[in-house]
Amino acid sequence: MKRFTPLVPVALAALALASIVLAQQPTPATLRTPAGDRPIAAVQMSGQTYFSAGDVIAALGGTVTSDGNGFKATLNNVTAAFGPDSRFGVVRDDLIEMAAPPAVIDGKPYVTWQFFQGFLSRATNNEAVWDPVTRVLQVRPAQRDQITAQVSVANIQGISKIVLTFSGSVEYGIVKQQGMYTILFRTPIRPPFAEQAFEDPYVQKLVFNGNELRIQLTAPDVVGDAYRLENPFRIVLDLRKGAPVAPGQLPVTPSRPVEQPGIHTIVIDPGHGGKEVGAIGPAGLMEKDATLIVCRKLAAALSNKLGARVVLTREDDSVVSLDQRTSIANQYKADLFLSVHMNAAVVKGAHGSETYFLSLDASDELAKKAAEAENAASAGTQPTATSDLKLILWDLAQQEYLNESSRFAQAIQEELNRASGVQNRGVKQAPFKVLVGATMPAALVEIAFITNPEEESKLKKDDFQNLMVDAITRAVQRYKTDYETRIGIIQPPTPATPPAATTTTAAKRTGT
Ligand SMILES: [Zn+2]
Repeated sequence: MKRFTPLVPVALAALALASIVLAQQPTPATLRTPAGDRPIAAVQMSGQTYFSAGDVIAALGGTVTSDGNGFKATLNNVTAAFGPDSRFGVVRDDLIEMAAPPAVIDGKPYVTWQFFQGFLSRATNNEAVWDPVTRVLQVRPAQRDQITAQVSVANIQGISKIVLTFSGSVEYGIVKQQGMYTILFRTPIRPPFAEQAFEDPYVQKLVFNGNELRIQLTAPDVVGDAYRLENPFRIVLDLRKGAPVAPGQLPVTPSRPVEQPGIHTIVIDPGHGGKEVGAIGPAGLMEKDATLIVCRKLAAALSNKLGARVVLTREDDSVVSLDQRTSIANQYKADLFLSVHMNAAVVKGAHGSETYFLSLDASDELAKKAAEAENAASAGTQPTATSDLKLILWDLAQQEYLNESSRFAQAIQEELNRASGVQNRGVKQAPFKVLVGATMPAALVEIAFITNPEEESKLKKDDFQNLMVDAITRAVQRYKTDYETRIGIIQPPTPATPPAATTTTAAKRTGT
């Protein structure tokens, strides 16, 4: 919990306040399971309903225990870690996004219903559905008529990784042919697309046809390893040129070729979309809509003022998975990735912006637990060391850019604070899944608190949107100038030796 140390006093004050207000509004709810109905403790706060995590998980046969500053929920040997300082819980190598951070009342954790949905879908074959009208939290078998498949392709540390994620387990076989792999599915699946080309060193295109997936490679000497991971069920193909690399020996080649050093391509990621609406303001403004409006303006400003090539991960109200978002950035060989969100708070009056970057270090304790659970689940199908290595590959991709990501996040936070004149909420580190796997400096910004009525109404106004867009544009410009100066394409580097990490990153990014 190292990452939250500077925030502890704020968090404690916030919790004390939340506890008082929350305690005044107990609003019981019903937990409905196949075993019957039972009352559960629930409280109402800032338009959100919070349920006692202990009540619900115990009713399902699991446990919730306190763990340092946070909590641990365990069910069917699957453990989720969560705490009042983040609206993201961690289960295995995955994140559970909640509408608001958990609250703590009398030492017990209260969470919004998304926690149960996220946890149960990974620990059981059940799903959780909350009906605010009847106040029934229903836990029922997941209603999946057909198994869906999602695809992500990214080149990390010289390995092209194809990850097929399924909504259930599938039977399959893999056939290697000249310049091609074919996966034959013996379980019917619903493919995400018929055909898609990729800008990847080894993967040319993926074609779903009936019960098979053809993976067309760019060259006949591309070789691969295939393996599966559970919870969710995934088939992973690691592709590279020539002789196989022994586990533990990651190639030290640059992650991707950089034709032109400097910041030229920027991928902007409007958070959420489609049925994933994100946080909702008291007057009904949805995060997915607010982020799209701001990101469209930001894309226009960045391409006009910086002459950058700007790509949006979604241009309309569509669902884009977290994996896909960084995949898009990797495919476009982006030099910067920025995910844009709106914040939600338990405490009334929370306002201002927050900028995050991904830190493996900070998430160590949670990530370790996640990896342990995953290894326990997949033990027997592969050596532990190997699966460990595969699991952290995605994190390694971003770790290489941590120093740059932190500078980028810092520039954004400073410009936003200056523009809005609000208190410095500071740059934070957190295991945001949307930043995992990005092979470029990446940050996530929570522009304003959509749950704060004042900020919600500001978010709808042109002048506030423009103020935020101008501030972020200035920040990108600042970071670009700073970075390009450091790698010596604006002016030669000074004789004084910059910090070692900076030198390494710059050298890798110019391909020397
Ligand atoms: Zn969000």
